[in-house]
Amino acid sequence: MYINLKALIHYNNDYGRNSGNPAYYMQQRKQVKRRKPRTPNYAKITVALLALTLIILLITALISKLSSKGDESGSLISTNSEKNSSTPSLSESNDNASSPESSISNDEESGEVSLPEYSYSIDITPYLDYIEPDRSGDKNDYWLILVNKEKSVAQNYIPPNLVKSQNTKKGYENTEINATADKALEALIKEAAANGFTKIRMSSGYRSYALQDWWFKYYKDKYRQNYKTESELEEYVYTFSMKPGHSEHQTGLAVDIYDTDTNSEFTGTPGSFWLAENAHKFGFILRYPEGKEDVTKIMYESWHFRFVGRSVATVIYEKGWTLEEYHKYSE
Ligand SMILES: [Zn+2]
Repeated sequence: MYINLKALIHYNNDYGRNSGNPAYYMQQRKQVKRRKPRTPNYAKITVALLALTLIILLITALISKLSSKGDESGSLISTNSEKNSSTPSLSESNDNASSPESSISNDEESGEVSLPEYSYSIDITPYLDYIEPDRSGDKNDYWLILVNKEKSVAQNYIPPNLVKSQNTKKGYENTEINATADKALEALIKEAAANGFTKIRMSSGYRSYALQDWWFKYYKDKYRQNYKTESELEEYVYTFSMKPGHSEHQTGLAVDIYDTDTNSEFTGTPGSFWLAENAHKFGFILRYPEGKEDVTKIMYESWHFRFVGRSVATVIYEKGWTLEEYHKYSE
């Protein structure tokens, strides 16, 4: 009842406002008149729009067809690049196809690190078999041998293929090292020189059990006066010198490298940074990195490097691991 009344009021209002007003009707008629000639124009425009839409649709279809062809060729390229990244060493050496480098391929799911296509300032070809040595059989056990405060080698352990190194500093000419590691070190030294670090040489390499024993006793005697008990003294000396059997230098794969004339003040020098960033390309790892003292149990040593071979060194470098962590996570 109320709604009806309201509708009626509206109607009345509208009717009431315009009823009897000739201008209103004239306006209505004018609008009708104006619309009339436009009607065929709309039709033309509609036809034109339809035609345009059709053309646009055709062009779009053509473009999408062309771009889908582009996608196909793009996917071929990415397939090729995936193939390349899974065999990164092929560009450098064809006989590396069955090398363990392929096991460190670009596999996101297993979390493995892909071996980058390293570029070198020197001709690396003569050194490839040394920087990534043969890992077949139990040879790999040697390259990855773990010696630390917990794990030791026997008193009579002598590493294979020891040679007098040609890459020593003055005064260290008789230093021995594993022959393969020595060739890898030679490549590292040449590359360093090509990059302006001409003084990089090895000081300490292979150290026998007997020599390590001598050094440990030497340090104990040196600091004996500062400690009341033998165990306190040993504990202190053990923070910087390994007990015999526990020194990585007994493996023939550890090297102390400096680019200075003396063995001091190497930490923080441009040469030490260069080595830390490039040694892995030659199969060496910074064995006791800063911030990993809780893992290695040894203070940061910017000069002590350990040969493990390029593929493993790359994993350790890329992951920011130590050799201990490599063993832990790869077992
Ligand atoms: Zn060392």
